[in-house]
Amino acid sequence: MAKRDYYETLGVSKGASADEIKKAYRRKAKELHPDRNSDNPNAEAQFKEANEAYDVLKDADKKAAYDRYGHAAFEGGMGARPGGGQGGFRGQGDFASAFSDVFDDLFGDFMGARGGGGGRSRATRGNDLRYNLRINLEDAFAGLQKTVTVPTSVSCGKCQGSGASDGSEPATCPTCSGMGKVRAQQGFFTVERTCPTCNGLGQIIKDPCRACQGAGRVEKEKSLSVNIPAGVETGTRIRLAGEGEAGLRGGPAGDLYIFIDVAEHQLFRRDGTDLQCQVPVSMATAALGGDIEVPTIDGGKARVKIPEGSQSGRQMRLRGKGMPALRGGARGDMFIELMVETPVNLTPRQRELLQEFEELSERNNPHGSRFFSAVKGFWDSMKG
Ligand SMILES: [Zn+2]
Ligand SMILES: [Zn+2]
Repeated sequence: MAKRDYYETLGVSKGASADEIKKAYRRKAKELHPDRNSDNPNAEAQFKEANEAYDVLKDADKKAAYDRYGHAAFEGGMGARPGGGQGGFRGQGDFASAFSDVFDDLFGDFMGARGGGGGRSRATRGNDLRYNLRINLEDAFAGLQKTVTVPTSVSCGKCQGSGASDGSEPATCPTCSGMGKVRAQQGFFTVERTCPTCNGLGQIIKDPCRACQGAGRVEKEKSLSVNIPAGVETGTRIRLAGEGEAGLRGGPAGDLYIFIDVAEHQLFRRDGTDLQCQVPVSMATAALGGDIEVPTIDGGKARVKIPEGSQSGRQMRLRGKGMPALRGGARGDMFIELMVETPVNLTPRQRELLQEFEELSERNNPHGSRFFSAVKGFWDSMKG
């Protein structure tokens, strides 16, 4: 089979300008692109042919040689003229590399069209929703079942989410014939854009459902019973799959995320799974020792033995009286911190007793004794 004339291959006249040749080649290349021609076995050969033709005609020297000698200008090794053009274009059989040379941006568009084309997704996933839930520490300790009311959109019951009114069907979009994409000329390029009529859905609704105005979903408050597990803390997220916003026209629903915020407690301060509790004790109890009762997070109480001579700030640990771990494991501990309290509003009798006590005191204040002997040393050293 005789080799086709290069001008003929590209579909231009011999007198065509460089610009016209370029345009013709682009049109041809797009038409023959492998992505579009999976069922055309000749496309590859034709593409190579067009590529070869353009490779010569775009180059002024090669074009001049071709105009003068025809295909003979590039045949064989021998008479080959103006040089070296040879390997240059013959070797370029490879589709992708030939394409990437000239057509990077256009190729990108093809990829886009292909990506969207397969799905032509008329259905769109609904948005995820966030719900902030503030709970108290007791509930975080025990866990709870909570009903939350979420303003969201749900699939329209009247049209089963299709958006079309009773008895009517969504129709194929006339602008894009259901492709969801339209072609537009932009400079040299024919690009595909999302169809403005149907927003890429490929369908239009002639007779929209009155309940949802054709959206296929309606705004509604949704009540959900949420199981908050024991051990949650501020920042814990609970995901309720599929409980977010309904998808558009039958698309999958988004998820609902419950963000937990645990309020401060008036008695307990939380540190991971441990709890801290400051407990005031009287001066006498701290000095003499004794038993006190402290509250626990489960609503009960625990007896704590105060050793004789306890100082303010002393910490005591109650094992296993802290918070449960969210993902199982041992319960944390509770730490008691003693705050020794100075008595106020003394009666004359109490004052008398304390004065008497003070007069009898000698080696009863370990901190004070250490402090004052340090002070004495300090003053001595300054004098010396
Ligand atoms: Zn509807
Ligand atoms: Zn359309």
